[in-house]
Amino acid sequence: MTLRTKFRGSLPYAVAVIGGFLVAYLIVAFVIFLVIRQINRLKRPADESPATHDCPFCLSDIPVKASRCPHCTSELKTAAV
Ligand SMILES: [Zn+2]
Repeated sequence: MTLRTKFRGSLPYAVAVIGGFLVAYLIVAFVIFLVIRQINRLKRPADESPATHDCPFCLSDIPVKASRCPHCTSELKTAAV
């Protein structure tokens, strides 16, 4: 007589079966979560170019696209207009 036939129909057996399914479900869901998170991390574009740079005149942090420094009002030659 196996444990399965011995405890068939009893409440502890049903709790054990349902608990086993829940644990397996949670493990599979966690693994899928890790896989999807890793895929999203790999898909993210590697464009990490800085949005700001230092003004050559006052050394303040200014946006890359700025044509004039907001701190010292110097005109920036590198600006793309
Ligand atoms: Zn400046």
